[in-house]
Amino acid sequence: MSCVFSAEIESIQKYVVTSNKMWTIRAGSYILDKFNKDIKDEFDNNKITGGKLIYSSGGSIKAIFDDEESAEKYGKKITTELKDETEIAYLTWAVEKIKGNNGISVAFEKVGKEIQKKRSEKQKPISIINHPLFINCEICKKYPACEEINREGEKRQYLVCQSCKLKSDKSKNRLDIYNDIDGNRYLFDNFEKLVEDDYLALICSDGNRMGELLIELSKKQDAVELLGNFSKKLDKATASAFKKTVEEVFKDYFKEEKDHSPFMVIVLGGDDMSVVMPAKYAFEFTKAFTENFVQETRNFEDNLPEVTVSTGIAIAKRTFPFSNLFEVAEELQSNAKKLSRWLKKNNGSREYSTVDFEIISESLVKEISERRKHLNFRKYLVTGRPYLIGDGEYPFKFEELLDIAERFKKEKVSNSFIHSLYDIVEKPSTMKIELDIKLRRLFKKHEAINDISGYDKPKNNFEGKECLPILDIAEIYSLIGG
Ligand SMILES: [Zn+2]
Repeated sequence: MSCVFSAEIESIQKYVVTSNKMWTIRAGSYILDKFNKDIKDEFDNNKITGGKLIYSSGGSIKAIFDDEESAEKYGKKITTELKDETEIAYLTWAVEKIKGNNGISVAFEKVGKEIQKKRSEKQKPISIINHPLFINCEICKKYPACEEINREGEKRQYLVCQSCKLKSDKSKNRLDIYNDIDGNRYLFDNFEKLVEDDYLALICSDGNRMGELLIELSKKQDAVELLGNFSKKLDKATASAFKKTVEEVFKDYFKEEKDHSPFMVIVLGGDDMSVVMPAKYAFEFTKAFTENFVQETRNFEDNLPEVTVSTGIAIAKRTFPFSNLFEVAEELQSNAKKLSRWLKKNNGSREYSTVDFEIISESLVKEISERRKHLNFRKYLVTGRPYLIGDGEYPFKFEELLDIAERFKKEKVSNSFIHSLYDIVEKPSTMKIELDIKLRRLFKKHEAINDISGYDKPKNNFEGKECLPILDIAEIYSLIGG
């Protein structure tokens, strides 16, 4: 009996980002991308007996098999392959029989639940840090070291774990997307140079309601064809939107013959995109990528659905641990998704793209949701995050926010004033009165703000809280180089 096979690579970002060294991230990204490509190639070349690939993106693989035995054999095969190639990344997979009407969609839902269950049952890997018998890897500082490696241009050797050794072997490779963008130039080898003393942004986007969209498609006639088609088109849409966005946003950057890259891709495929870049580009990039991606999916034929995205942008100094940055970006993305779901629920049948962002100081230890409760000025919240990107009835629109920051720049609002806005958050109430006066002056002096949508008047966010998003303007303005 035919069945659905589904597999998820656990926390791929955590595998990619085990250290702050750019070469480890670059290599991790390449290794996972290659793993994904090999899977697609094997199915395309009919090397997988009795199987048909219907979806493969980022860390998620879905296929239909003629029988359970073949599906299970395949699950074991790719589990071993992933272990061989990464040492530490692992898969959770499950198989479900297809029965009766709507068989595929029912099996899809079941297999999704089964994977959730398996995940929650799985114990967290036991930490062996500081075990007296092991020396920790000098790169990731997580796993026991087992080998010495030489890194080009460095005199010393490193004692590394198996996973970092595999990454070191592959650290000269790069993703195909780079060849698409800059041909055979060397530009992308030197991202490190660009970010030495800058704020970095980690941008994580992914498609909204993908699981549900797949289930809806699997109820249609020729579901297997349709799903396979959808998956391929999504891959193309992501790559093409990414390329277009890079060309738009870094147009001036590329004009100057610089020898280092303005960004580094972590994941790019299916509906997933994560990329690192200097923070000053992150907002424009996110806006443009969202528009370009949605536009690409809007052009899908065969009645395939339009896909919107939710994005988290986590910003911090270069020295901030990357793995923590990922956790923040994921939390922000899930905030953005909450708004996207709320908008869909309250505004009919459409889908909405959204974004949330946060600048993380070294001292940020609270969860973002906890921190935001205290971002108040008088009775208002000083942030409107998360934001809507694109058309829709919602008071906090990302485009407007960026527009205001740009106009501040043109009107040369002083940086010291902007910095004093930050004080609203932490300072005692006497200070707040002073800021109140300053704010009134600002709103009087700079018509740009009132012009756009009355940003001096508080509006309700989707959770019913009154917001005056001055902190959002201040933060973006300070990052885009006011
Ligand atoms: Zn290591």
